[in-house]
Amino acid sequence: MHNIDIELVEMTLDVMKYTINRITNTSPEMGRPKKEEELKKLVGETITAEGIGGERAFELFKDVLVKATVPIDHPRHLAFVPAAPTRAAIMFDLVTSASSIHGAYWMEGAGGIFCENEAMKWLVSLTGLPNGAFGVFTSGGTAANLSAMVTAREQWRKNPNNVNEKGLIITSIGAHSSIKAMAQVMDVDVVLVETKDLMTGDALQEKINALNEHQRKRLFTVVATGGTTNAGIIDDLSGIAEICERENLWFHVDAAYGGGALAADSVRHLFNGIEKADSITIDPHKWLFSPYDCGAVLYKDPDQAKEAHSQEGSYLEIFKDEGAHGFNPSDYQIQLTRRLRGLPLWFSLAMHGTDKYKWAVEKGIELANLAGTIIDEDPILELVREPGLSCVLFRRKGWLPYDYREWTYKNHRDGFALVTPTKWKTGSDYETVARFCFINPDTTEQDIRDILKTME
Ligand SMILES: *Cc1c(COP(=O)(O)O)cnc(C)c1O
Repeated sequence: MHNIDIELVEMTLDVMKYTINRITNTSPEMGRPKKEEELKKLVGETITAEGIGGERAFELFKDVLVKATVPIDHPRHLAFVPAAPTRAAIMFDLVTSASSIHGAYWMEGAGGIFCENEAMKWLVSLTGLPNGAFGVFTSGGTAANLSAMVTAREQWRKNPNNVNEKGLIITSIGAHSSIKAMAQVMDVDVVLVETKDLMTGDALQEKINALNEHQRKRLFTVVATGGTTNAGIIDDLSGIAEICERENLWFHVDAAYGGGALAADSVRHLFNGIEKADSITIDPHKWLFSPYDCGAVLYKDPDQAKEAHSQEGSYLEIFKDEGAHGFNPSDYQIQLTRRLRGLPLWFSLAMHGTDKYKWAVEKGIELANLAGTIIDEDPILELVREPGLSCVLFRRKGWLPYDYREWTYKNHRDGFALVTPTKWKTGSDYETVARFCFINPDTTEQDIRDILKTME
């Protein structure tokens, strides 16, 4: 199977043909999931002792399996956080795989890690973190948040009094589910600040003051959100930074979704204070148009991350030897062997320039504001709150949770759109409402109007 023969050439041409077709198709078929048994019936056994051949396997993928997936870059896919990788980034993802580069250590990956680092410098520059700040690309926001929180705990545990203490973090109810999930992985407790909208410095201070003495001793990190996934809300980062400094707490900003908007002049001021963070999460696979998967974790002082993450092992020693002086991405996050997942972003940035990125992010914000205006003018619709970054929450007057669900299913079944409802807390109640999240700059005003029409 490592032979170079005519079968290999044919398979390669098939893959290229498929890839070109797919990335030039601006309105790919909106696929839907099927039951596993159904898929099995349609494709039969694919893993056999003799193999079914590349042609057959690819045919099954194209004709059956990929149709049971949702193209995340569809202009009317506005659910969760969509994605819209640039064509340049997608093509370079193929190049990244073809090049077989180990992305853990400079000794093996220097040229590729250099590229990643150039892209990283741009990300760092968007945040305004001080000189010396740097970061690495991770598998996503979850891994970035975990890497940052582990680093924070390591620093806190330098104090011998804390070595045997279980850590505690404070975040808000708007924080992403991965914060709680990763806290569980780390076995640290989470205290939530109840917020109606953004987490303010005052609300945080109140929460800290309400901790008992032992809890206060165990508190080591505050996690603020730079664009909540649900509603695009940015916490009061300046106010929170000040408190973290005064209280001697690690300040982490989770901007996995919102981080792309650091490039957008129209909303950049909302992130003021992010430059005081000890660590920041940004997902290029969300709003910086990278293919899956590509997250990033940035540190004010990367040496602190190294103390927490650098792995020891006799067979790894050589990579830290003289000849290998350079930046080793595996020293700064939880993963050892890694693909150079920042390469597609680097190539696309190099090809298009950062101004185009600014433009494309602004476009998502414009679409959200436009949708807000259209909803405002429609007597049967109502905004829940003003659009936040590229998220719009709104009500269809008179609808119950059931109606939103049926509306989602129908649009999806019709192959028209995927727009899912969410929940919004008012008082002590959670209300089901509709939500748009815009990422793809190819989404049009007509798309928005057509989707809203299905609510009549
Ligand atoms: C999406 C998201 C995450 C999780 O990132 P993954 O890339 O899915 O692991 C974390 N935090 C926020 C704010 C997010 O929007």
